[in-house]
Amino acid sequence: MAKSVLVINCGSSSIKYALISERREDRIYGLAENLGSADARIKGVTVGGEPLELSIPHADHAKALETLLARLANYNPQAIGHRVVHGGNLTKAELLTPEIVKRIEAATPLAPLHNPAHLVGIEATMRLFPELPQVAVFDTAFHQTMPEYAYRYALPQNLYTEHHVRRYGFHGTSHAYVTERASELAGAKNQGGWLSAHLGNGSSTCAVWNGQSIDTSMGMTPLEGVVMGTRSGDVDPSLHLFLASNLGWDIQKIDNMLNKESGLLGLSGLSNDMRTLVDASNDGHEGATLAIEVFCYRLAKSLSALSCGLPRLDGLVFTGGIGENSAYVREKTLGYLSHFGLQFSKEKNDALPRGTEGRIDAGQGPQIWVVPTDEEGRIAKETRQVVEQTVSA
Ligand code: ADP
Repeated sequence: MAKSVLVINCGSSSIKYALISERREDRIYGLAENLGSADARIKGVTVGGEPLELSIPHADHAKALETLLARLANYNPQAIGHRVVHGGNLTKAELLTPEIVKRIEAATPLAPLHNPAHLVGIEATMRLFPELPQVAVFDTAFHQTMPEYAYRYALPQNLYTEHHVRRYGFHGTSHAYVTERASELAGAKNQGGWLSAHLGNGSSTCAVWNGQSIDTSMGMTPLEGVVMGTRSGDVDPSLHLFLASNLGWDIQKIDNMLNKESGLLGLSGLSNDMRTLVDASNDGHEGATLAIEVFCYRLAKSLSALSCGLPRLDGLVFTGGIGENSAYVREKTLGYLSHFGLQFSKEKNDALPRGTEGRIDAGQGPQIWVVPTDEEGRIAKETRQVVEQTVSA
């Protein structure tokens, strides 16, 4: 497999990996999970699509990476690309140097759950494979083109100047990929104005003008914005005071509730999983029906709001597990957006096979596309570009 890049996404107890060559069909991918426990294992797919399952009892991140890399060494990866959630004010993917590692550490207060796990993976791969160039690709970087009026909160200045309190935005790799791809499919790569809805367990929207992020729904953390699987999205900030004063909740309990017990799960009282909710709603579950209603309405509201940032609206693209697979959610959301001239074809929307690219508008007004996201592919591409620029510099 010539010129492959190993993409690594380290979470607190798992590592997603993908070995990506320039031929998409050669992709090898998988997940090391339950790290640190007796049940630690690697599950994945090998070349040719054969399933792989390997027990690695009590393996930590370093041991799991060692096992993975030993298995993948035959394919001679030319570089490693790390997904890093928060890059602070770094504006693009960067070759990992001690200076860049320090800047990822410095952004840790802004992503306390994610950046420490990424750093464990980075430290391990740098130690195990010192000869391989390694690149960090940031979820926040794509949104560094937002104008100041979009990224500032209406808060006292010193919170921004001294403590970096501002909107950063996330899912940048996905929004960048799907808007580039949709505009390419529309015949005008990275031109004009696009709205993007990445709908997975975490969800966000983004407005993109000529290939650059103009605004996005997530903020300083991934909690701001639309309704998500277990995250509330926007709430009145005075909710904190209300819960503390009236229920005696401390800040940790409130944060936990907003991140882990809210969203689709909180509203439905049933599940954070959209597929489960659609099935339950069809069976008459009222909580599930309400959760889907709120999800779609708030999503449409967010897309409408972000459209203000665009001089012109050329298209809208849906992606993520829900955006790619749920014709029902797309239909409900688009039902709130017809005054923008967004006219969808029910026939095309219903007929689009799950997980495939396709156009679902009625042929007038802005185009509407469904594009399966490819964050790993985009990370590999950016990693390759950084390595090539560095070699030619
Ligand atoms: P993550 O953010 O963890 O990467 P995904 O992008 O895989 O998540 O999206 C997961 C969500 O996609 C879940 O809510 C799941 O129920 C939803 N989903 C997947 N397939 C369907 C479907 N056919 N209909 C509705 N929702 C679906």
